[in-house]
Amino acid sequence: MELTKTLENELFELIANSSDNSFFYICDMKTGMSRWSKLAVDYFGLPDEYMQDVPNIWINYIHPDDRHIFLEDLDKTFSGKKELHSCEYRAKNSNGEYVWLKCRGSISYDENGNQKMFAGIMNNLGAVNKFDPITKLKTIFEFINDLDDLLLRHKHGAVLLFGVDNFKQINDIYKYSFGNKVLSFIGNTLLNLNLPGELYRMDGDKVALIMTNCNCQKGLECFSIIKQELSKIVVIDDCKVRIDISGGVVEFPVDGRYSDVLHRNLEYVLDMSKQTNRGNVLCFNETLHEQFQAASRFKEALRNSIRNNFEGFEVFYQPMVKSNSNEIVAFEALLRWKTPEFMNKTPDDFIPVLEETGMINDVGAWVINQGLIDFKELSKKYPLEFISVNVSYIQFKNQQFRKIIEDALITHQVPASKLVLELTESCKILELSQLKAEIDYFKRLGVQTALDDFGTGYASVNVLRDVAVDWVKLDHGFVSKIEDNKFDKAIVEYMITLCRRLSVDVIVEGIENEKIAGLISEFNPRILQGFYYSRPVPIEHLMSK
Ligand code: C2E
Ligand code: MG
Ligand code: MG
Repeated sequence: MELTKTLENELFELIANSSDNSFFYICDMKTGMSRWSKLAVDYFGLPDEYMQDVPNIWINYIHPDDRHIFLEDLDKTFSGKKELHSCEYRAKNSNGEYVWLKCRGSISYDENGNQKMFAGIMNNLGAVNKFDPITKLKTIFEFINDLDDLLLRHKHGAVLLFGVDNFKQINDIYKYSFGNKVLSFIGNTLLNLNLPGELYRMDGDKVALIMTNCNCQKGLECFSIIKQELSKIVVIDDCKVRIDISGGVVEFPVDGRYSDVLHRNLEYVLDMSKQTNRGNVLCFNETLHEQFQAASRFKEALRNSIRNNFEGFEVFYQPMVKSNSNEIVAFEALLRWKTPEFMNKTPDDFIPVLEETGMINDVGAWVINQGLIDFKELSKKYPLEFISVNVSYIQFKNQQFRKIIEDALITHQVPASKLVLELTESCKILELSQLKAEIDYFKRLGVQTALDDFGTGYASVNVLRDVAVDWVKLDHGFVSKIEDNKFDKAIVEYMITLCRRLSVDVIVEGIENEKIAGLISEFNPRILQGFYYSRPVPIEHLMSK
């Protein structure tokens, strides 16, 4: 018989046995006889490899909620409305579990245009994706399936989504494989907590917990249990790690009747929590949603400015004066940004966003180039020793950063020694060896480095022992209080003396009045900076003085 010959052919057997997760089928459209691969027969517990009128058998294996998907798609394919049979649905295997299948098939025609064979493949998505191999938690596909299923069954409940705040740093500082170990530790810890719901590994460092018959409050409670457990310091591969998390909670069906809407709202609320309430958890509501959209518009506006050749960005300059003569000897370049929609954003608002999105790399390179161009101009009027430019840790650890500096110095023909890179507070999170390697590299190149906001954490005193910076800038937090705080005055004196012993020059910033200037000068730092001398101003202002 023609059919048997075709179906028995070696090719079918070979292909049918080639994958554990794919099932093959072929059907003679004239006789209605089909053959399914043996794997499919065993996996689903089908009556036989050869079956007559298979759709009527197979439909009983398909999830009742998905039968219409299968039938409609098949109908369209057989009636010629669709070229390919292609749909996803759930079917029950011989263990009684539903698995997701991606089913595809196509029809061949004989010389008279009549349908001849229908053949295809079913991929078992459930078996491939059910559990994430690293965390052993269910996958994001399962999350969508399970949530859809609950919504279809008119259940109510809450979903908690949390992410690891310091995961990027853990991955940056250690290796990717170490990051995976941290995730695996998280998965294991969570599974042992006996939480009242199902856990899922979502994108990257995020985990979700679906709970039924509860409201947001339950999500908040679970978050604190998880946070308390994960924030204990653990040793993984001889490294001490602390896992900080932020979270968001939605309720279903109030915050979304469909899994994709709930998922999107969860991502919103988690993002909001990371931006405004880091280390904490928030419940979704419409106000938060609006705030989130405002934050997205802010990011987009920054991105647009960069795209439009840095339109809206400007560099202001704040003078630095010699402490013994008040003569201007340097300027600090300070970034400003303004668009018609965002008129009052300060660096403290936009620098973290630029850092978080990586946009600081492009903007930082632009500031350095602009700073060197303006340095040449300002040098015509002021006896400048250097120009200082702020650099955040994202830039400092970027592979391109050395080249950006070298190219800028060559392009603008400025000697390396005239440039000071101020390592902002964020650089503290870099590993000491990396910080040292970069600083040593710039030292060899002749470029100077400064530790900005020095003294805000005692770790920075230790840094001086290991890295050869040229300058420290004493943070204005201390300076502003030395008038009436003996402790701060003693610290400032101690820091300046310590730096002198170590041959590191000191810039004291944040000097706001004559009295503080007088008190500070007693300790004889090299350079002073602050509103008392001048606020940061545009270059035109300095050139026209
Ligand atoms: P910073 O580098 O410590 O800059 C000094 C900040 O203190 C500036 O704020 C300056 O306006 C302010 N300041 C100066 N004198 C005084 C004073 O007497 N009293 C008080 N209360 N404040 C004073 P600004 O310009 O808002 O910059 C804030 C921070 O943003 C900077 O702190 C720096 O960390 C960062 N930043 C600014 N521009 C850039 C940049 O181009 N790249 C990077 N990566 N960071 C930048
Ligand atoms: Mg600075
Ligand atoms: Mg500073």
